[in-house]
Amino acid sequence: MMETTEKAGIPPVKLSENSTFSFKCHKGVSCFTQCCHGINIMLTPYDIIRLKNRLQMTSEEFLAVYTVPQVLEKTDLPVVTLKMLDDVEGEPACPFVREEGCLVYSDRPTTCRYYPIGVGSLNYKEENAEGFYFFVNEPHCRGFEEDSPMTVAEWRKDQGVDVYDEINAMWTDLIVKKRSIPSNIRLTQKTKNMFFTASYDIDRFRRFVFESSFLEIYDIPEEEVQQIRSDELALLHFSFRWLDWLLFKQGDFKINEAAAAKRTKG
Ligand code: SF4
Ligand code: SF4
Repeated sequence: MMETTEKAGIPPVKLSENSTFSFKCHKGVSCFTQCCHGINIMLTPYDIIRLKNRLQMTSEEFLAVYTVPQVLEKTDLPVVTLKMLDDVEGEPACPFVREEGCLVYSDRPTTCRYYPIGVGSLNYKEENAEGFYFFVNEPHCRGFEEDSPMTVAEWRKDQGVDVYDEINAMWTDLIVKKRSIPSNIRLTQKTKNMFFTASYDIDRFRRFVFESSFLEIYDIPEEEVQQIRSDELALLHFSFRWLDWLLFKQGDFKINEAAAAKRTKG
């Protein structure tokens, strides 16, 4: 996510869906594209799907070229941020920013859509951080000087981030859930690797489901198998359910005992 006030130890002013603010961003503002420099943008699973499809890359290629791996504090979970490049003035800049604006605007990530608002559940480390918003508060942002009042809910809809949030909702819940369990309960490296693959690398996850013994070991209804084979968003949702089962043993994954026993004997 873009830098927050938390690093300076300043508690955020909490906003709700109904909080109102006045803000407008357009090509005429003196700060145009300044917010696309020197930033830290954590990517969500749906961000990656939109960007890799926009750029006609596989998820593996996109991850290799455009992201940096990180560990999300208080969760021990691997996440990725957008890899910044040095621009002509030597300042780190988003690889998609140009003088005329964002090259991938209609597929820009969640954080860019929310800006100048941040989301508590992903940015704040305390428990109970979900369900609130806050202003990112960067001094260079002149958008607050524009006379364009709206509520947070209206801003989310206007920016299309309500759709992104809905698709990522179960994944965000996984992060909130992981943050709420004691930090001394550690994940194995294998589980962390699976979290990374199922969250971000949809093409590798597809191979894991269809080209391993996964469908022999787990009883997945045939109708669902057909759906996740042909529909990338259905596969993404399936990957979140799989992670819920893997991390928290929640959900309805059933082992095919006969197939599992046969594999153990073999
Ligand atoms: S993706 Fe687009 S909006 Fe987001 S930081 Fe990069 S250039 Fe700016
Ligand atoms: S800094 Fe604020 S007003 Fe300026 S381009 Fe970015 S979001 Fe728009």
